[in-house]
Amino acid sequence: TLPTIAWIGLGIMGSPMSENLLKAGYSVTGFTLEQEKLDRLAKAGGTAAGSIAEAVRDADVVITMVPASPQVEAIAYGPDGILENVKEGALLIDMSSITPQTSIDLAKNAREKGIRVLDAPVSGGEAGAIEAVLSIMVGGEQADFDAALPILQALGKTIVLCGPHGSGQTVKAANQLIVAVNIQACAEAVVFLEKSGVDLKAALDVLNGGLAGSTVLTRKKDNFLNRDFAPGFRIDLHHKDMGIVTDAARNVGAALPVGAVVAQLVASLRAQGDGGLDHSALLRAVERLSGA
Ligand code: NAD
Repeated sequence: TLPTIAWIGLGIMGSPMSENLLKAGYSVTGFTLEQEKLDRLAKAGGTAAGSIAEAVRDADVVITMVPASPQVEAIAYGPDGILENVKEGALLIDMSSITPQTSIDLAKNAREKGIRVLDAPVSGGEAGAIEAVLSIMVGGEQADFDAALPILQALGKTIVLCGPHGSGQTVKAANQLIVAVNIQACAEAVVFLEKSGVDLKAALDVLNGGLAGSTVLTRKKDNFLNRDFAPGFRIDLHHKDMGIVTDAARNVGAALPVGAVVAQLVASLRAQGDGGLDHSALLRAVERLSGA
């Protein structure tokens, strides 16, 4: 029989991901802060719980997908949290993008209670979540990875154990660095092309066929063309991730000269009230700098 799953955090990513587990035949009990997301889970065949304790009580596997380290700590620890209420021997898979150190600490604290942990952040965005083709970067122990693999295969396509606890988060931090710099480069090209009077759609199509092509350019092309900045992936979250990669790189003495500049541009968008927009809104930052 399939393991019973509790899912905490039914946002842009968590809702479609948990629905893919339902489609694969798992029973899923969920908890999140928005009632409409709980209703959506119930409509898809899952069970809506009234609290974290209620959601995790009978679970063999608990999956968390919340914004950042403080939320992971809030749902994991304390009398109403996961660690106090889950069965001994359960597996906790945190798929949120958080600091590597938070994942390392969580694994250690959980182990003292007989609970196994994997960090398993993802890349591929909302579309990747819906289509179950996410890249999943995992940190933790081989045996726990092996146990989690069938579940992760219902959510993603490229699933790799990267090393011990925290390694998945380190790889995810690198992912966010590459994505931000890539979006920034595309945004600069878009403003340059438009100011030059070239047909933007034609330009992006041909660029995508050459070495300049990328998943970012494919996925974000329509955002650029239509100035559609509905999230997707919010600037607020990418700001969090640029902080994670900047800190982690400083800790190991790795220089991020370009990443640091892009981190500043992400921060400036947020300071100007654009934190709720999709990260393709880096185009706005370049337009402002260009007087467009
Ligand atoms: P979101 O804001 O849409 O969803 C977060 C969910 O967490 C919300 O439903 C909220 O109710 C829930 N939550 C927060 N605090 C909670 C608590 N104390 N108890 C229960 N539920 C709580 O965010 P998202 O876009 O789904 O992102 C989630 C994580 O995945 C983030 O770490 C993000 O960086 C990462 N991520 C997002 C994308 C993307 O494209 N959106 C892609 C890859 C990774």
